Amino acid sequence: MSFTVAIDGPAASGKGTISRAVSEFFGYAYLDTGLLYRAVGKRLLDGIEPVEAAQTLDRSVLDADALRSPDVAQAASKVAAIPEVRAALVDFQRAFARRAGGAVLDGRDIGTVICPDAEVKLFVTASAETRAQRRCKELQGKGHEVTYEEVLADVRERDARDMNRADAPLKPAPDALVIDTTALSIEDAVAQVVEIITEAGGAD
Ligand code: C5P
Repeated sequence: MSFTVAIDGPAASGKGTISRAVSEFFGYAYLDTGLLYRAVGKRLLDGIEPVEAAQTLDRSVLDADALRSPDVAQAASKVAAIPEVRAALVDFQRAFARRAGGAVLDGRDIGTVICPDAEVKLFVTASAETRAQRRCKELQGKGHEVTYEEVLADVRERDARDMNRADAPLKPAPDALVIDTTALSIEDAVAQVVEIITEAGGAD
C-alpha cells in the first residue's frame, strides 16, 4: 500500500532534516526532489542545455555532496523555472510517491503539483534570517567560504525566484499544515510531524 507525505518549503527551512527523520521513523522511502533540479543546474554550469539535461538525467547517481554548493543552488532555481525541465521530472517523482511501503518527498511543489492527493501535506517555513544562519553554518562546516550576508542575499534571491515563477511556484497547498521552525528545535519539529503522520494513518 502507498502512503505519501509531501513536505514543501523554502531553502533551509528544515524540511530536509524533518523529511529524513520521519522517513526513517516510519520506514518510508525518501526523495529530496531539490537534488533533481540541482543535478540539472550543475549540468547547466557544465554547459549542457537544461531541457536536454532534465530529459536525460541519470537519477541513480545524484551525488548530494557535489550538488550542495551555492552556485549549483542558484543554477537549480533558474532551471526550475523552465516548464519543460519541470515536465521532464514529473513522472519519476509521481512514481516514487506511489511506491509500495510509503514515501516522503520534499521540495517546492509536491503538495500543489506533484502529489495533490498526498495523505499528508506540510509546508515547513522559517524566517529568512534564521534560514540564512542555518545554511551559513552548514556551508561553512563543509568548507565553503561564505558570509552570513552573502547567504542571506542568496536565500532571498532564490525565494523570490521560486515564489514568483509562473509554473509550480513555491506556495503551500490550500490544505497543507504550516509548520514554522523559526523558534522550534529540530526534535520538536520532528515530533510534531510524527504525530501528524500517525494521526493521518501513516503508522497503520
Ligand atoms: O531544495 P533545494 O534547495 O535543494 O532546491 C534547489 C532548487 O530547486 C530550489 O531553489 C528550487 O528552485 C528548485 N526546486 C523546485 N521544485 C522542487 C524542488 C526544488 O523548483 N520540488
